[in-house]
Amino acid sequence: MIVPIPVHCMACGIELRNEIPSGEDRTRGVCPDCGTIHYRNPKIVVGTIIEDAGRILLCRRAIEPAEGLWTPPAGFLEMAESMAAGAARETMEEACAEVTIVRTFARIDLTRIGQVHEMFLARLESPDVAAGAESHEVRWFSWDEIPWQQLAFPVVEWVLRLRAEDLASGQERIHRGCLHWNEVGSPLSLENYDLGDLQSLVLAP
Ligand code: ZN
Repeated sequence: MIVPIPVHCMACGIELRNEIPSGEDRTRGVCPDCGTIHYRNPKIVVGTIIEDAGRILLCRRAIEPAEGLWTPPAGFLEMAESMAAGAARETMEEACAEVTIVRTFARIDLTRIGQVHEMFLARLESPDVAAGAESHEVRWFSWDEIPWQQLAFPVVEWVLRLRAEDLASGQERIHRGCLHWNEVGSPLSLENYDLGDLQSLVLAP
């Protein structure tokens, strides 16, 4: 979901005027009646990577966008919720999986659509998993079974690639990067993004 451009005042409901508020440097929706400035800011998505016996748990999405495609459990952070708590809640909702958050794994900026994704490594606390209301199915995949051609979003592919690299090298790392679309080719393909500002911090064993 791209963060929508506000059209009507959230306080009065009347149509906003697009103008640069005094002291600012960009156009905002400003209410001509009450003066409320409507800021448009990125949304936070939180999710989990759950591993067990060399496999990872993925969900096949039952909702648009990317319905029918695979992703780790993830979704939008709610108000009054920590990122770790939100990731655990989304995991319960989408995979009926009870997890404990272990640590941050990757933080990825998606500047094209105005999202920040925080993915955590998480430990499963009970072997019972099942498709939640927003999933068609949940499944364990070994790393050589990952359905790379049927992943839901470029950010999913990047996060899974990074985790696969860490497991192959035996190095535990925390990653930070930005998915910057090159404005050429499909924005749904990771190969059309500049991944150049990736930073990967190696954790002590
Ligand atoms: Zn207003």
